Amino acid sequence: MEKNKVLLFYPPGPMFQRGEDRCQQNIDDGSAQAMRACNDLGYAAAVLLKRGYDVKLRDYQTELCTMQDMISEIDAYKPDLMMLSTTNTTIFDDIKIMNDLKDRFGGVMVLKGAIFYDPEQEMLDLLDLSKIDYMIGGEVDFAIGEVADYALRGQGDVKAIDNILYKDETGKVVKTRFHVWGEDLDNQPFPARQLMNNALYTRPDTDAPMATIQTARGCPSNCVFCLTPLISGKHVRFRSPENVMAELTECYEKYGIKDFFFKADTFTINADWVEKLCNMIINSPLYGNIHFTANSRVNPLRKETLELMKKAGCFMVAFGFESGSPEMLKLIRKGATVEQNLQAAKWCHEIGLPFWGFFVIGFPWETKEHIMETKKLIHKCDPDFIEITIALPFYGTSLYDTCKEENLLAENVLGSDFFHSSMNGTKYLSMDEVVKLRRDILLGFYLRPKYILRKAGECVKQPSVFLNYCKYGVKLVVNLFK
Ligand code: SF4
Repeated sequence: MEKNKVLLFYPPGPMFQRGEDRCQQNIDDGSAQAMRACNDLGYAAAVLLKRGYDVKLRDYQTELCTMQDMISEIDAYKPDLMMLSTTNTTIFDDIKIMNDLKDRFGGVMVLKGAIFYDPEQEMLDLLDLSKIDYMIGGEVDFAIGEVADYALRGQGDVKAIDNILYKDETGKVVKTRFHVWGEDLDNQPFPARQLMNNALYTRPDTDAPMATIQTARGCPSNCVFCLTPLISGKHVRFRSPENVMAELTECYEKYGIKDFFFKADTFTINADWVEKLCNMIINSPLYGNIHFTANSRVNPLRKETLELMKKAGCFMVAFGFESGSPEMLKLIRKGATVEQNLQAAKWCHEIGLPFWGFFVIGFPWETKEHIMETKKLIHKCDPDFIEITIALPFYGTSLYDTCKEENLLAENVLGSDFFHSSMNGTKYLSMDEVVKLRRDILLGFYLRPKYILRKAGECVKQPSVFLNYCKYGVKLVVNLFK
């Protein structure tokens, strides 16, 4: 019997981290981030392959394909089901693409993305979902297999598939059960990297292929702007270090990948777990052959954890410092202090572990003085790289509720991103002022002669890294003056 065919894809167009539901970052307009691997599609593909489907996985945006390329491929493949991974910013364009594909080719149409996580009817009413059959709001690998079985094989009960939206007999969009998560991550198959173009996703400095390894899901913190506690839960679900080691080994041995991004909502939250994984790497044949980066909170954090991470091959750690204002850190419920931000930076400098600093400005309560405190913190911490995003009130976050109450929403949240926020400013600053402050702080940080000399010095033996730094530097300046 011929197998049902499924196409999982990112459409052509601007680059977004579509696989990272919590941030859905705009890559084209940011500073120094590169596209990360399409693990959401990879996980979905692995689940579908296991259930006997014929699966095609395509990241048209990162491959720089045109709409015509995509349409020709779909015409040749003739899928029975298509799933597009969407974002808060691209949803209107993505729906147009899906509507067009439905008209041309028919089949079952599925959208996957955090905007469908227990959405309000008010938001759904803004979207033309007439040709979309299913919307997956939760973790795709825990839903797509059952959705495909129901839609293509008539098996199972759609009402029992958690964290999705489907249409009833009258065409009305119905939600299933939300706020439940699959617990057993070790039992999920690894992303189907045999279907992914792994060379597309690289380290920004060396351009070497970099795989994303999801080590845990969920975060117990309450940051007002973050979708994670809503979509991944406040209880952290860890994979076992053994299971992560097996995936690392597969990537290294089967695909020749030596660089990794350990994706967790906050990788260092459980120091014992991190230490166990690092020790396993150190005592394995991978030691010295692989390198990794990871994100971290500044609290809880131990210096010994950072030291061990460096020893195991960590080349960069990324901290969400967010703000240099004690008042802002409290209002955004970061659960960390300016002193802890400084401490984490100091430890990295002492250990010689490069680090990224992520900052956010434009919170509803922010004045220019608050933002100047963030600028001061940036210079005191002196990270290797920074990104400053503008507060974005995603649907479902308490930041959204505050912005609504304070009348700070300029337009619909859908269609906006961290560099084109849907707020019309803070209570005290216009959006133009916030954008200008962001530009001034970024230029003031990156264009310091001391910084440029330091980075140039680090690259003396690696001209290709220097070229990549220049490439991202030019991109940053161009973006800031666009
Ligand atoms: S620490 Fe805050 S920003 Fe980071 S994942 Fe948790 S809730 Fe989100």
